[in-house]
Amino acid sequence: MPKTIIIFFGPPGSGKGTQADLLAKKIGWKKISTGDLLRAEVAAGTDLGKLAAKYLKTGKLVPDKLLINLVDHGFKVKSGGVIFDGYPRNSRQQKDLLAMLERKVKKSDPVYAIEVSVSDEEVKRRLGLRRMCACGAVYHLTYNSPINDGLCDICGRKIFTRNDDQPEVIDRRLRIYHRTGKVLLGYWQKQGKLIRINGEQPIKKIHEEIVERLKGLRVI
Ligand code: AMP
Repeated sequence: MPKTIIIFFGPPGSGKGTQADLLAKKIGWKKISTGDLLRAEVAAGTDLGKLAAKYLKTGKLVPDKLLINLVDHGFKVKSGGVIFDGYPRNSRQQKDLLAMLERKVKKSDPVYAIEVSVSDEEVKRRLGLRRMCACGAVYHLTYNSPINDGLCDICGRKIFTRNDDQPEVIDRRLRIYHRTGKVLLGYWQKQGKLIRINGEQPIKKIHEEIVERLKGLRVI
């Protein structure tokens, strides 16, 4: 059963997924990204994938009840901790997560939220040039381009633009994030459990800052 929970928050394109990945690799914890899990379900053509596909395409939130099992699974792993990326996204999900934590981790176990903050203008600049691979690798054509033009460094497949990185979809995702993010982050701030990180810095610098802050709090 995991002992420590770290929840990443940030607008789409903030790099929170990249940071969650780097942190998970560094400390060997399980990462639960609801976006990655849902995309995998869509790619595999499962029942859940079929239900979720239309939401992912338009950038709308997938209904909360479809996510419970995906999230719950994360608590079954043997790992020092779990890192959440992209969950919770609204008050209902936060309530579900808090209820799950109450059942599955001790009161004294550390739970922290990390907000990777980035302005809307920067989000729009970044997402227009973001590319993905079916294997889950993420690239940026300016900051983190693949070695061979258009091909994934890891598996060699063709990289592509996510449907939800189209401009009108980005606007909708930002609106959703601002509407709900304030409430969710407000909760963690009140608990004294919110770590704010400037996401408009080089990837490595952000990672180092996150590690330093968590070490300072004796979380890792
Ligand atoms: P992400 O990769 O986290 O940006 O998520 C991509 C898409 O997956 C979102 O635009 C939603 O359609 C869906 N999604 C991911 N996480 C959640 C969540 N916690 N609640 C509802 N929908 C989600």
